[in-house]
Amino acid sequence: MTDWSRLTNRLAQRQQQQLMRQRNTLETAQSAKIICNGEKLLNFCSNDYLGLANHPKVVAALQQAAEKYGVGSGASHLVNGHSTLHHQLEEALAEFTGRQRALLFSTGYMANVGVISALVEKGDLVLQDKLNHASLIDGGLLSGARFTRYLHNDVASLTKKLQQHQAGQQLIVTDGVFSMDGDIAPLTEIAALAKQHNAWLMVDDAHGIGCLGPNGEGAVAEAGLSTDDVPILVGTFGKALGTAGAFVAGDEVLIESLIQFARPYIYTTAMPPAIAAATLASLKLVQTESWRREKLQQNISQFRSGASQLGLQLMESTTAIQPIVVGDAEAALKLSQQLKSQGVMVTAIRPPTVPAGTARLRITLSASHSEQQVNQLLESLEQACKQFKATSSQLN
Ligand code: PMP
Repeated sequence: MTDWSRLTNRLAQRQQQQLMRQRNTLETAQSAKIICNGEKLLNFCSNDYLGLANHPKVVAALQQAAEKYGVGSGASHLVNGHSTLHHQLEEALAEFTGRQRALLFSTGYMANVGVISALVEKGDLVLQDKLNHASLIDGGLLSGARFTRYLHNDVASLTKKLQQHQAGQQLIVTDGVFSMDGDIAPLTEIAALAKQHNAWLMVDDAHGIGCLGPNGEGAVAEAGLSTDDVPILVGTFGKALGTAGAFVAGDEVLIESLIQFARPYIYTTAMPPAIAAATLASLKLVQTESWRREKLQQNISQFRSGASQLGLQLMESTTAIQPIVVGDAEAALKLSQQLKSQGVMVTAIRPPTVPAGTARLRITLSASHSEQQVNQLLESLEQACKQFKATSSQLN
């Protein structure tokens, strides 16, 4: 018999801390209305910010490409898994982001780990925002370079760190839009600092691509910055673009270096070509249907003004990510369950995904929500908070 006691102890500890994570089973496509674990729910927790995950044109593009190219790519990009569809998508992304080239990765997690570990090594320094996504942190740790974290969105803290450590190549890494807080990095200031210190700057704009910028090019374009300011740009497809995978965009030498040195690019099967075709279709919709960004903004404003009228404490976020910090992990879970009992799905995000004491309801809005659905969310939040207060005082 295998001795699993070490793992059973860890699991028991997690259970005891009320931090056990559970998966929900979705029985429909991602959209405003879903069926999850057999329950009909309004969906306020997906990253399908523009409502493209189930768009008929995106689905049709995938189906047509699957007819022609099959399902599996059959090999890694460097063997013979790189199809014309991958190539077309890379060219479209380079044009979209105004960069010389773009390179596809199978997931955003792999792109982030791949870029950081390929670009820096022992003797270099990686400087990351404290609230950066786990994949960026993991890339930094794996790279073998010295690794330091500066205070969240704090340019003074970053400056201090840049001055303290001056050895080797410095790489500054930040989320564009922070995944759990929804706020935007001070990209203009960070880009200026990077230039001043001759450091490389990498922005992971997983949550900005599609939603921000004049044509959905993301937080970097929204700030009026170019490839000269942000030489390493990462975007993902699993959020506003509604598909799966990721890209890195930048200069020729950057992309060629990633092809040669990024292990999560080299040693993995290329994404299915049909996913590239679907992403090409959704990229077109991102560029041509600006009403989706406008509708998303309307929903964000409606939610924020309604929530503040209810006296709910919102974060300083202007994006689709509108968290309500509850603090205690168990309380966040209870609120999430109460919302579910009223037909609204909002997941509770707890440590270690967010810092201890900052468990939250991570509410996400989408262009696919109607005004009436956002009102329903607000009413349910009001009810859930009332119920929660009543049961908490009974407990006290
Ligand atoms: N970066 C950020 C900021 C993210 O939020 C995520 C996913 N939640 C990723 C990268 C990883 O992307 P993917 O899901 O494509 O692996």
